[in-house]
Amino acid sequence: MDSRLVQNKQMAVKEGDLFEKCYKFTKAKEIMALGLYPYFRTIESAQDPVVYMNGRRMIMVGSNNYLGLTNDPRVKEAAIRAVEKYGTGCAGSRFLNGTLDIHVELEEKLARFMRKEAALIFSTGFQVNLGVISALVGKDDVVIIDKMNHASIIDGCRLSYGEIKKFRHNDMDDLERVLRDADGKGRLIVVDGVFSMEGDIINLPAVYELARKYNARIMVDDAHGIGVLGKTGRGTCEHYGLEQEIDLIMGTYSKSLASIGGFVAGDKDVIHYVKHFARSLIFSASPPPASVAAVSAALDIIEQEPERIERLWKNTRRMLKTFKELGFEVGPSQTPIIPVIVGENETAFKFAIMLQQEGVFANVAVSPAVPNGKALIRTSYMATHTDEHLDIVTEAFKKVGRSLGLIG
Ligand code: PMP
Repeated sequence: MDSRLVQNKQMAVKEGDLFEKCYKFTKAKEIMALGLYPYFRTIESAQDPVVYMNGRRMIMVGSNNYLGLTNDPRVKEAAIRAVEKYGTGCAGSRFLNGTLDIHVELEEKLARFMRKEAALIFSTGFQVNLGVISALVGKDDVVIIDKMNHASIIDGCRLSYGEIKKFRHNDMDDLERVLRDADGKGRLIVVDGVFSMEGDIINLPAVYELARKYNARIMVDDAHGIGVLGKTGRGTCEHYGLEQEIDLIMGTYSKSLASIGGFVAGDKDVIHYVKHFARSLIFSASPPPASVAAVSAALDIIEQEPERIERLWKNTRRMLKTFKELGFEVGPSQTPIIPVIVGENETAFKFAIMLQQEGVFANVAVSPAVPNGKALIRTSYMATHTDEHLDIVTEAFKKVGRSLGLIG
């Protein structure tokens, strides 16, 4: 090793050095040494129901490609055409040189799709939550969030100058308690439409009633609802018939919309304000042409092929029933996100690696991301999974669950 590098490492061993924590962080390495590390696994193919790892065929139940559009020839063709016309990047933010005609067209299309006055597109869904919440929640305001909301919402709140208050997961009595006690000028309630680990749906009608009673605005993060819930895939607000009542809906392109990026839709004056105050929009480059074109094509397909949503739900119903019949604990899931709760973190690591040996890719969520003793295998389904794929998944869960003593 280079002597300068050795010197650097030695320096870090000294107490109080900034890098000390890095050299002392051994947890992940211990799990790797046991051969149980389930993160950053390398895939050599597209996000389809079947993926390849080390040349081996695996059934993918760890993807958010709910409608199976990331490898659709029409979506790919649209992306290729956009690259040919506009190149590979925008080299600047929406605010300055980075707004293309296709960005504006996609905003109009998303606003129509979400049945809102206006929409604003960002380069990731994470940036939407950072930018929108921090732009809207000022120092005298209060932002009220569900405890199980996505990390990007929590970070958006941290970036705001307002007070942050949390309520128990999907617990409307607790939300009312928080609203009653909340001082401050403006109030914003932010909730996930579909919770990304639990797969349950927010009780939005009750949130709306409470928001009216306590004069609060509502923002729904519908990353996992769009393309999944509602008669025509417009998400949680359509599912409850509350599209006009909910103030702001955010979505991401990294799930049903087959790409990367995100948007917020709502009242045109609010969107106009966010456009001039969201730092993650103004100071970050705009979404690349290929992504924008892919989302536009995906939206067309969602409208033209409602049978995709039906197939997604057929697969979801089948797997929910299967896991329950096998005796697994799936919690309150009502959507294509079906967690299988296995208990301790180590059991979850073992479970995931054993599934991989059986030819199934599923994700792992351990504490502190989930409550202690509630580590889970997060499975999620696509419209394009066939019965044969799901048979393989069922057999693998049965075998691993029995061998780890979780089911009879
Ligand atoms: N919100 C939720 C609920 C999510 O699950 C995610 C992505 N995992 C995001 C926001 C962030 O979206 P993106 O991947 O586009 O950054």
